[in-house]
Amino acid sequence: MNKNRQFKLARRPQGMVQRADFEFVETPVPEPGEGQFLVKNEYLSLDPAMRGWMNEGKSYVPPVGLGEVMRAGAVGRIVASKHPQFAVGQHVVGLFGVQDYAISNGKGVTPVDPELAPLPVYLGTLGMPGMTAYFGLLEVGQPKPGETVVVSGAAGAVGQVVGQIAKIKGCRAVGIAGGADKCRYVVDALGFDACIDYKAEDVKKALKTHCPQGVDVYFDNVGGDILDAVLTQLAMHARIVICGAISQYNNTAPVKGPSNYLSLLVHRASMKGMVVFDWADRYGEAAREMAGWLASGRLKTREDIAEGLETFPETLLKLFKGENIGKLVLKL
Ligand code: NAP
Repeated sequence: MNKNRQFKLARRPQGMVQRADFEFVETPVPEPGEGQFLVKNEYLSLDPAMRGWMNEGKSYVPPVGLGEVMRAGAVGRIVASKHPQFAVGQHVVGLFGVQDYAISNGKGVTPVDPELAPLPVYLGTLGMPGMTAYFGLLEVGQPKPGETVVVSGAAGAVGQVVGQIAKIKGCRAVGIAGGADKCRYVVDALGFDACIDYKAEDVKKALKTHCPQGVDVYFDNVGGDILDAVLTQLAMHARIVICGAISQYNNTAPVKGPSNYLSLLVHRASMKGMVVFDWADRYGEAAREMAGWLASGRLKTREDIAEGLETFPETLLKLFKGENIGKLVLKL
């Protein structure tokens, strides 16, 4: 008989996530009740936000409870259904958790077509990270043709899309990423104008070189020292999109705030936080436009595919060690 392998949250991590923060269990595969269906997960989405969901306390979603299956986005196939709108054989995306099988009532679940795009792309560029890049850049960043857009985490799931949309909109795109391979990917494969290797270069100096007119839009995925460096290079009326701060997620010390924030005053600039869910009613519109760009080759996407549910804790760590290029997914 098939088993349902699951990772449950066993304790709240202190600092970097560890395998011992989870409990690995095998349970019987559940059966759907009336109005429910059973999904067999095929790919799990590994996201930096998962680190925040493991913490106690108030955020934009409730924390994962101790003893609960770890929350994760996933794409899978329906293998049993007692739901009128979801049929066996359909592929769907939803928050199905770190497990082989999930029961769903269809809430927050989107059908996807594997003929139109490979399944992992629905967790990346045509999924939540792609939506984050699209709405964060276009709605919050408000880039105008000719402006300079800088994005950190440039070779990651969100960052790779941000820089390419900036180019499509007629902007200059400058990435910030860790390591020569990532910078090569961003410039040579994705067509960014430049990329700063923050592990090898002086970011402030490099920003002066690559953004001689200053930074009009900064899409921040990392926070910390890099945010502080970009604040010293703002153009007048610059917009900073606070999308994430991965450099701070595993810190045991308080979050490091930007000491150069008075640059916002001098440059009449703004800094605004965003959560992608606020645009949920417009995902379809964004997905259609981005699918068009993908089909025409104007937008490229890369997924970094690890294998095996049992490797989940170590694979999640790749995000915090900078070992992924493109969207990190786990194939089950
Ligand atoms: P990702 O960029 O694919 O992966 C994370 C990357 O972060 C790593 O590959 C690494 O790249 C970089 N990183 C890790 N530790 C770092 C550190 N200490 N300093 C600087 N960079 C570090 O992840 P993603 O899914 O696209 O997410 C990017 C950011 O967007 C995250 O902060 C995430 O929380 C945020 N996000 C926000 C929303 C929202 O609605 N607000 C939605 C989705 C994602 P390097 O090798 O370049 O360091």
